[in-house]
Amino acid sequence: MDLELKDKVYIVTGGSKGIGEAITRMILQEGGKVMIATRSKEATSDLIAELDPQCNDLDASLGDLSHLSNCEQAISNTVSKFGRIDGVVNNAGLNDGAGLDKGPEAFRRSIEINLHHYYDMVHYALPHLKETQGSIVNVSSKVALTGQGSTSGYAAAKGAQLALTREWAADLLAFGIRVNAVLPAEVMTPLYRKWLDNSFADPAAKEAEIVQKIPLGKRMTTADEIAAMVVFLLSPKSAHTTGQFMMPDGGYVHLDRSLT
Ligand code: NAP
Repeated sequence: MDLELKDKVYIVTGGSKGIGEAITRMILQEGGKVMIATRSKEATSDLIAELDPQCNDLDASLGDLSHLSNCEQAISNTVSKFGRIDGVVNNAGLNDGAGLDKGPEAFRRSIEINLHHYYDMVHYALPHLKETQGSIVNVSSKVALTGQGSTSGYAAAKGAQLALTREWAADLLAFGIRVNAVLPAEVMTPLYRKWLDNSFADPAAKEAEIVQKIPLGKRMTTADEIAAMVVFLLSPKSAHTTGQFMMPDGGYVHLDRSLT
């Protein structure tokens, strides 16, 4: 199937590691162009060196997106480099464990690093998305629906991303801009690895325990399987899909618990 991404331009936040990296790779494979907006300098330069050292179709705007100016800069860099924006993938995030015990400052900071830039990126990209009838994909989390414990800030931000998905889908109907969310559950990425290694005395045992509870195939979802959903939602092949929450999670959130 041709996803019709040829020469279209996408911004992927956190696009050089984990799920974001898989999204970047898939867009390029489909003939699209990507501006990665991230703070991960080394991973980004390695990825560009591997995929497109001349930066013809792939470039990066570096900086912490919790600073508003870096979001504005990422949009203006994209337009200066590629001349248009066909979609925004809000993906950068961090499960920082700002739980009830950590206090108001930690909670506020968690919202700042996980939520504000989702709004800021779309705000600055909007005039360009109106020109292209672009598409927005918010990468949220199963935590928005299930909770996790000890992570109030992240859970609140992930839930708000779903609310914004519906709000923007309604707000932007008239411009033909579609807005959808993808909710990963268990995907082995650098972030997930760090969480396992830092949170449990026996990370391997914990990983085995989690995997046993994933109904389809008793395995984690791959980053490529998340990327395939995101890239489909960016593409004109999903032209009548908006305001949806997609869960490529092997049935983790919704299937009967007796199956695990
Ligand atoms: P990852 O491996 O840590 O990759 C995320 C990338 O985004 C990293 O390069 C990270 O930089 C960057 N980033 C994070 N916050 C940023 C900020 N404020 N400014 C600029 N760059 C920033 O994470 P992932 O597991 O692929 O997660 C991607 C998304 O999926 C997140 O929104 C996460 O909440 C969601 N998710 C993941 C899972 C899972 O199982 N992996 C499950 C549910 C939801 P650093 O390396 O410097 O932090």
